[in-house]
Amino acid sequence: MFQGKMKAVTFSYDDAVTQDQRLIHLFNKYGLKCTFNINYDKLGVARALIREGVTVAHCKPQPCEVPGIYAGHEVAGHTLTHAHLPRVSDHEVIRQVEDDMQKLSELVGYEVVGTVFPCGDFDDRVINIMKNHTTAAYARTTKHTDSFEPQTDLLRFKANVHHCNWDKLFAMAKEFIEMKPETPQIFYVWGHAYEFDIDNSWDKMEEFCKLISGHDDIFYGTNKEVLLGENYTRRECNQDLRILFIGNSYTYVNELWNVFADVARGEGYRLTVDQVTKGGYRLSQMNDPENEKGAVVAEKLKPDAYDVVFLQEQSHTPVSNQEAFFAASRSLCEKIRAIGARPIFYQTWGRKDGNQDLETFGWTPEGMSLALAESYRAIGEETKATVSPVGDAFLDVYKNHPEINLYHEDKTHPSPAGTYLAALCHYATLYRTSPIGVKYHFGVENDAQAQILQEAAHKAVFGE
Ligand SMILES: [Zn+2]
Repeated sequence: MFQGKMKAVTFSYDDAVTQDQRLIHLFNKYGLKCTFNINYDKLGVARALIREGVTVAHCKPQPCEVPGIYAGHEVAGHTLTHAHLPRVSDHEVIRQVEDDMQKLSELVGYEVVGTVFPCGDFDDRVINIMKNHTTAAYARTTKHTDSFEPQTDLLRFKANVHHCNWDKLFAMAKEFIEMKPETPQIFYVWGHAYEFDIDNSWDKMEEFCKLISGHDDIFYGTNKEVLLGENYTRRECNQDLRILFIGNSYTYVNELWNVFADVARGEGYRLTVDQVTKGGYRLSQMNDPENEKGAVVAEKLKPDAYDVVFLQEQSHTPVSNQEAFFAASRSLCEKIRAIGARPIFYQTWGRKDGNQDLETFGWTPEGMSLALAESYRAIGEETKATVSPVGDAFLDVYKNHPEINLYHEDKTHPSPAGTYLAALCHYATLYRTSPIGVKYHFGVENDAQAQILQEAAHKAVFGE
């Protein structure tokens, strides 16, 4: 119930434009409450917008004006820069959503607890990241529902109607006004205030405000008041990305997970790392709950336990037994996704010249490397999982910078420099950020070598 009433009306307007002030004037005149969704980094930008052949102002207030303009209503987030969240990295989702809310909180002096997806763009990965790593308690989509029932999935919140759908807006309003429900019901309207300039519909909006306002059995509140209750306080969140490494000695030699974590932490990222590794192990064994380490993997893959899982296959299996590699990978990717995490393949490299296995299989270092790359690329494409192209970077440095030794004496495992190169590729792949210039160095003799490895990782991941 809403202050003892069974019905509540709330509004949601996006993008923080100067037209909001005229809309607020209307809302205040009729005692209506609204939530305004703001891109913090866009505040102060003045532009024009052409829609349906009409040019309208699309100007944003200065940050210092926000508390005054929106007083009496609610300010919520809309990402820092109006980002299309499904297209950005895990870390960028957190930054776009959480930093926007935090900066707005500082600006308005109260906890900003909700957000809106720019252009309505979201997917399961984005929702999982928001659930685990942001304080967003609700997130409005651009999807609609005809139902006034309170929703449980507040991070995929559906509105009832966009105001531009005038006929539906008025029809739903009339239905809502006449309802005498025995359980709480919510009527939720959204839009952009500049749209009233486009079709000159300010009068129509006033007519609507007049119709929906002033009913004793309706509570008029902001999104937070209606969806979360007036006494809601910001929930806790675990901001650290939780990353699991599954693999064998190519992962545990030099403790790749720790080198990776040091690289990422050096750049300001928050994360925790965990690993399940054993010498010579194949993914098929890691995928087998009856197996010693497979049982550990099964135990660790609990719902919500990790955000990202790196998968490394035994070093020649993707070429020597591709079917086994593919079968285990498909199954593991499915299990990883089922707990809300994202799989990333760790593409390893060919043996160094002189290694006995090359002769056994009839491979060259380059031939083995390219065959591995192709196998990882194929399973990545099939499972829609990202591949961290460590093998490509290895081959590049092996051919062009023989002065840097990437291999252990056994001509197969990574030297410390090889592990550093793998960590840099993982870093660039996960955070979609160039590794050139990362502060943490490991396994290299000097800064020049570190730079060569960073450039090779950048080229392998971003292709330029
Ligand atoms: Zn928007």
